[in-house]
Amino acid sequence: MQVIWVNHADSTGESQSSPTGQANLDQIDYVLRILPRSRAALKDSALGEALPCPPDEAVCFANVFYNRVEQRTEVERISLEQVLGHAMAHELGHLLLGSNSHSSTGIMSGKWRADELKRAAKGDLLFTAQQARIIHDHALAKINQREALQLSAPP
Ligand SMILES: [Zn+2]
Repeated sequence: MQVIWVNHADSTGESQSSPTGQANLDQIDYVLRILPRSRAALKDSALGEALPCPPDEAVCFANVFYNRVEQRTEVERISLEQVLGHAMAHELGHLLLGSNSHSSTGIMSGKWRADELKRAAKGDLLFTAQQARIIHDHALAKINQREALQLSAPP
């Protein structure tokens, strides 16, 4: 598995010059976008969203909203990088764990109160052991699926 970072603010708008051009899109399973602003309709506390992703979907999308992360940082006095990183992991967690993947504790808890943010600041807001196992199995299945496709593809 590989992570590709794309800065769309730097791009000229020409998709051919972008690293997410068609050739690479075939190899992408998950897209996490950091968007400057949340949609107005979204509930106030949400830092991001994972879009529905049925098992046969080729590419799954999640969004993290920079303005919401910034607001949260100002209130709780925790670093923006820490909140942003944890919000990204949380939304990717939704894509990898499937629907209804909120838990009562840890990084997948549905609402981050002061306690969760304090733990995040200490690097102690984590996936549970069970969640980590599901993510691991999910990633392994994706890799095997991709290898099987490559083996069956004509040279
Ligand atoms: Zn969530």
